[in-house]
Amino acid sequence: MKNATEVLHAIPADPLTGAISVPIYQTATFVQEAPGVHKGFDYARSNNPTRKVLEELIAELENVDRGFAFASGLAAIDAVLKLLHSGDEILAVDDIYGGSFRLFEKVYDHFGIRVKYVDTADLYAVQHAIGYHTKYIWVESPTNPTLKVSDIAALADIAHAHNALLVVDNTFASPIAQQPHSLGADIVLHSATKYLAGHSDLIAGLVTVADPALSDALYFIQNASGGILAPFDAWLTIRGIETLHLRLKKQSENALAVAQFLQLHPAVRSVHYPGLPEHPNHAIAKKQQKYFGGVLSFDLKIDESILAEKVCAHTRLFKCAESLGGVKSLLCHPAGMTHKSVPQEKRHASGISDSLIRLSCGIEETDDLLRDIDLAITYAISAINVQTV
Ligand code: PLP
Repeated sequence: MKNATEVLHAIPADPLTGAISVPIYQTATFVQEAPGVHKGFDYARSNNPTRKVLEELIAELENVDRGFAFASGLAAIDAVLKLLHSGDEILAVDDIYGGSFRLFEKVYDHFGIRVKYVDTADLYAVQHAIGYHTKYIWVESPTNPTLKVSDIAALADIAHAHNALLVVDNTFASPIAQQPHSLGADIVLHSATKYLAGHSDLIAGLVTVADPALSDALYFIQNASGGILAPFDAWLTIRGIETLHLRLKKQSENALAVAQFLQLHPAVRSVHYPGLPEHPNHAIAKKQQKYFGGVLSFDLKIDESILAEKVCAHTRLFKCAESLGGVKSLLCHPAGMTHKSVPQEKRHASGISDSLIRLSCGIEETDDLLRDIDLAITYAISAINVQTV
């Protein structure tokens, strides 16, 4: 894992002017001295100097040679899916992000890509489900929103033994907490909207690839389909990455404190946070992650949407909004928001109850966050007039 010094100094000063902040090359095209004679850039969909710095930076942070920047996390996922062919199969983690599920089921299904869902924390289940047509094992670790952790190195071994690739959505960890390529993953992707950019002010996606031939294939798709990241958003993402270490450390401290507080709360049934020793995958999380991250989720004892909705509506600091990983704390009700597109039956089967609330801790003072969530739960319970204990 790169330390703070290494991350900061992996961002180069501008070779042309010495500017310490990477310039924003807001241009569509580049003047050529003669047809085909240019300085490495011909058209900004194909390449752009600001985007190139971000792509080289994410490759450096994930310890591979090449990275690619897209207009959103889902555009990044879409590009990775375009490497497949009709008839190919994906074995995906069962509580996958709702947007990925929707893309698999409502778009790629039409093109003959089939997805089987499995608990990837259960290696036996993965061994059992993988088949001849499986081309990707697709895992998020930790997952969204139940914070399940899978053994990335073991999944890479299973994938490779079956001529499949391991794709890791590393959004919930970030490259300074977890480096899936070093554990054997072939493709790593991020919704850079979250921790990497870090300020809830843009949408972006990043992909890194270990194998040169696969990199060339992904570059071809990036250029051919054109879902690229704009220069200003690339610049903001680079700036966000400069403070990633400070933010993630504080966010992880806040999340652990909130998780420990909620564990003792009489209205709370269970708390999901890989940093808690009681978390079923704590040992593997500890082995493969440097930080446990700012996101946790919890179920209320009364398993009703209405109570969870009331909690979400009555926090003052945790703003009710989709997304996570930013400096300001957010919360959401996955069943009614991020995971609404997942059928209720599948949601329940993957542990997303109607009362589950996801918190994304920002960098506020810890005590302020504890008070905020405590007051909202107390208010919600009194508002619907129920006994919890
Ligand atoms: N992957 C995960 C784990 C996510 O949580 C999200 C969005 O919440 C995405 C991918 C999609 O990213 P974006 O919203 O940047 O398109």
